[in-house]
Amino acid sequence: MLPLLFACVDPTDSAEGDTAVDSDDVASTLPTEAPLAEVDVVVIGSGAGGLASAWAAREAGASVLIVERADTAGGATVNAGNYWAAGTTWQSAAGIEDSAALAISEWSGFTGGDGDSPVVKAFVEGSAGVLDWLAGLGAGFGISSSVAADTGSKPRFHQLSSEAGRPPVNVVAETLVGESWFLTTATELVLDGEAVAGVWVTDAAGAPGWIHAGAVVVATGGFTRNDAIVHAALPALQDQSTWIEAFPGMDGNGLALAAAAGATEQNMDHLGLYAHGVADARHGQPEVMVIVGLDSSMVVDATGARVTDERQFGSVAMGTRYLTEGPYYAIVDDVLWARINLQGRGFNYLGDPEAMTLTGAEYEALHPVLLGEDAETLGTALGIDGAGLAASLQRYNSDAAAGTDTEYAKPSSSFTPLGKAPLRGLPIVLGRSKSFGGLATDLDGAVIRADGSVIVGLYAAGEACGFLGDPAIGSGLNGSVTSAWWSGLLSGTSAASP
Ligand SMILES: Cc1cc2nc3c(=O)[nH]c(=O)nc-3n(C[C@H](O)[C@H](O)[C@H](O)COP(=O)(O)OP(=O)(O)OC[C@H]3O[C@@H](n4cnc5c(N)ncnc54)[C@H](O)[C@@H]3O)c2cc1C
Repeated sequence: MLPLLFACVDPTDSAEGDTAVDSDDVASTLPTEAPLAEVDVVVIGSGAGGLASAWAAREAGASVLIVERADTAGGATVNAGNYWAAGTTWQSAAGIEDSAALAISEWSGFTGGDGDSPVVKAFVEGSAGVLDWLAGLGAGFGISSSVAADTGSKPRFHQLSSEAGRPPVNVVAETLVGESWFLTTATELVLDGEAVAGVWVTDAAGAPGWIHAGAVVVATGGFTRNDAIVHAALPALQDQSTWIEAFPGMDGNGLALAAAAGATEQNMDHLGLYAHGVADARHGQPEVMVIVGLDSSMVVDATGARVTDERQFGSVAMGTRYLTEGPYYAIVDDVLWARINLQGRGFNYLGDPEAMTLTGAEYEALHPVLLGEDAETLGTALGIDGAGLAASLQRYNSDAAAGTDTEYAKPSSSFTPLGKAPLRGLPIVLGRSKSFGGLATDLDGAVIRADGSVIVGLYAAGEACGFLGDPAIGSGLNGSVTSAWWSGLLSGTSAASP
């Protein structure tokens, strides 16, 4: 293993003119100036993937260093409240019978991916252990009793609980304070021949330097805010207006970093797309507010026809359907409008969390909402087929009054007549959420080339590799942050023992 030098090196020190590190190695293509630090494993990014990777590498005996371009740890991971896992102690305690074997058998059904894939098996079998590990460090979880979309047949959402413990990012990041450089941006991998041997970084002032490392883990998050990558991966999105629910840092820069070392990508056209929100009334396009209570509305397409059981709008599958069948419109009567909330995404409201959630009336005061005294006039206002909308609403209301959804079997808890004027129509936007594609990796989390060969010294974790580094994840799962932590533990362990 490389000697640990970084602890006594200031990243802002200029290294210009220093002697070459490997001057005896004639084959070396390393930079000639002295590195800012020399470690076994350098991890780019401090979200779930990066933190877990650094933690595991250090546990395996390696010296580690995290470089994080933000001024604090966590990335998008600080926003994630729902963790998917199967066969956990939380489920058992709540009387929920579940197992990894059951979840694996259902995998293709709720992700569209390959449940026979070894990486899927390893992740699902390890998912309960990820939560045990985080809880062991002081994180708190509770279990939701309801089955969420894209999670299989059992309640598998484990929600962060401030009563039970502290946020996962905090408990892991605290253990790595002395091994984390903030306001430090990775700009390019350092190659020694074909092997990755470190990374170039800039500090807050833009001053460059490089870190010599035995291995580099790319844990830079996803690419959903990068239009060029998104449109190349999913051309159908070019015809849609741009709406994004992903963390501001999701620019996909890790893909370009790794590509320079020969990395290949996989599953790029599988974006987590959601059709469950409207324009953020405070921030405007492309930011989104989620409609809390959408399941109790009636959602129609441009012909005025109802689309599905509205509870399905929590799933990635409905986002994908929107691409070919959208746009969709949520129809709400005056009673439901008084109960609905519009909820912004946490990263847009860090300075003012109180402003994040709006009632319908508050939303309407900030952003135009189309109204109609009846379905026909609302249809005209929305620019959709008013007669079709009137027919759908009549059937919806008579079914709801009778207590049976004859079209889509929505349960009565979300199914009440929408009769009180005025009616409102909310144009649902298509929000890009996360990337279920990215760098391709092998079963050890090592980044591979298009021919399947391993790039020595290069690993990936989290959304940078589409969570599992393999198309077997399919269209993805809700609560996938667990797999970001899982892939971090895997890549960190492997990177420490190449
Ligand atoms: C509002 C919101 C709610 C969400 N809710 C959930 C949920 O309930 N459940 C769920 O499973 N998922 C949820 N997600 C998605 C989830 O948060 C992410 O998929 C997950 O956190 C990704 O983890 P990561 O480690 O791959 O990336 P991140 O956590 O984003 O970490 C990547 C880090 O890399 C840093 N970085 C990037 N490039 C560089 C560079 N060149 N140099 C240095 N540092 C760099 C970034 O600053 C960032 O800190 C939510 C996301 C959002 C935005």
